[in-house]
Amino acid sequence: MPTRWCRSPRAGSPGATLRSRDRGCRYPGCTHTRFVDGHHVEHWARGGATRLSNLVLLCRRHHRLVHEGGAAVRVLDDGAIVFADALGRRIVDAPSTRGSTDAIVATHRAEGLRIGPGTAPGRWAGEGLDLGLAVSVPCASTSVREGPSTRPAIAAPSG
Ligand SMILES: [Zn+2]
Repeated sequence: MPTRWCRSPRAGSPGATLRSRDRGCRYPGCTHTRFVDGHHVEHWARGGATRLSNLVLLCRRHHRLVHEGGAAVRVLDDGAIVFADALGRRIVDAPSTRGSTDAIVATHRAEGLRIGPGTAPGRWAGEGLDLGLAVSVPCASTSVREGPSTRPAIAAPSG
């Protein structure tokens, strides 16, 4: 699939090299590898060159977030690509969820974690939902904060 650009690509654009380097959206935690766009970190209208050191692949959602949602992307002197949210807080890169989980398991073992089927057992034993309780507790909490409810009462189904 061809790489889309913020504007029409020039002849000899580095799209293939960019796809080879980034392999998908570079936004922290994003795993999208298809429908990605080449984004100019320094916008081309402000003199940003269409060269690998000024480009990053972003999926459509994150490309829009950078252009319209206030997120920022920068390339550091060492070539690292960093993102920040609209308040300027750095978004920490999340470990990739692509591929094998062997590295995660090895990390857990190295840290002494033994994660298995009994690690986080639920307390649910298969009993039916007490819908009256499930509805009345949040409603009671709301009526304490907001006063008497003007909403019609919700009857719990019987049986
Ligand atoms: Zn993305």
